[in-house]
Amino acid sequence: MIRALVVEKDEESGKTSAAVREIEESDLPDGEVTVAVEYSTLNYKDGLCIGPGGGLVRSYPHVPGIDFAGTVESSSDDRYKPGDKVVLTGWRVGEAHWGGYAEKARVRADWLVPLPEGLDTRQAMAVGTAGFTAMLGVMALERHGLAPGQGPVLVTGASGGVGSVATAILGRLGHEVAAVTGRPESADYLRSLGATQIVARADLAETTKRPLEAETWSGCVDAVGGPMLARVLGQMKYGASVAAVGLAGGAELPAKVVPFLLRGVNLLGIDSVMQPYENRLEAWQRIARDLPMEKLEDMVRPARLSDLPQLGADILKGQVQGRVVVDLT
Ligand code: NDP
Repeated sequence: MIRALVVEKDEESGKTSAAVREIEESDLPDGEVTVAVEYSTLNYKDGLCIGPGGGLVRSYPHVPGIDFAGTVESSSDDRYKPGDKVVLTGWRVGEAHWGGYAEKARVRADWLVPLPEGLDTRQAMAVGTAGFTAMLGVMALERHGLAPGQGPVLVTGASGGVGSVATAILGRLGHEVAAVTGRPESADYLRSLGATQIVARADLAETTKRPLEAETWSGCVDAVGGPMLARVLGQMKYGASVAAVGLAGGAELPAKVVPFLLRGVNLLGIDSVMQPYENRLEAWQRIARDLPMEKLEDMVRPARLSDLPQLGADILKGQVQGRVVVDLT
């Protein structure tokens, strides 16, 4: 039997409920690889899938968990053999397909990435989708010419999951990092991660009629979107790029095209869900190399399957701090 967090839906009331249950191995969905899950984590999307569904879950009963890391137990695909350490993010696992909140998961081989040397399964889940996406953002900026020494790189939503990992990676790579936060009490923490400058969220919150301001940032990993992103575009240096990762501050982009036309600014879209395999592999290898894991350790908040119904509700209310790492060992 396999312990899992199972979400059920009452067809009459439409209400969902989540509880730890025992399921049979034969209940697992089809897939080439069965993984003994060691760790999973908690994202906003998981909160939706543990709770109301948010239109993400295809059918019930459902096992959520959009990312996990563990050891291959059996595989009918030549790329994986029992004992291999693997990590999975994206591909709508935990939404359309059963996910990582179970002692075992069965998935398609195409969705897995071998865990790189230097990273264990717990660390991989301290990084999770948020950190993986931060790395994709940094890689996109580099491909568009970002290198250390060009001036400060802005990270918005810096004390969040994406922002804190982006800050730590950019700092380790030798960039000056300007961390935007709405929480003054996070300043010391952000400096310890690698920020060289703290920018108050309020300084970038106001919209301006001026489409261009002083050329200030050599790059930006943006987890916030909305009016802040519009403002940041007008402050980018000539030819610099913004990696648009998130929408914590809104999905609207009330911007002018002037920074693109007069300063050659690039707006780079970052998607973590359907990212091609080669990029995934590179991102995880870069995480193992360029992310100072010891700096993330302070953020880790250990949890068990039975904690998830409460944590799922909490994350939807913005009440979860740090990186929740769910222990399935
Ligand atoms: P978190 O909630 O951990 O962090 C978001 C941060 O943004 C907060 O910590 C806060 O930082 C800041 N923030 C929150 N609300 C506002 C606001 N109204 N205005 C300005 N800043 C705000 O989320 P994650 O880091 O996990 O994710 C960030 C975004 O990236 C989300 O929108 C998420 O959906 C998206 N995402 C996208 C992915 C992709 O594939 N593109 C993958 C993963 C996440 P502070 O307190 O420091 O100000």
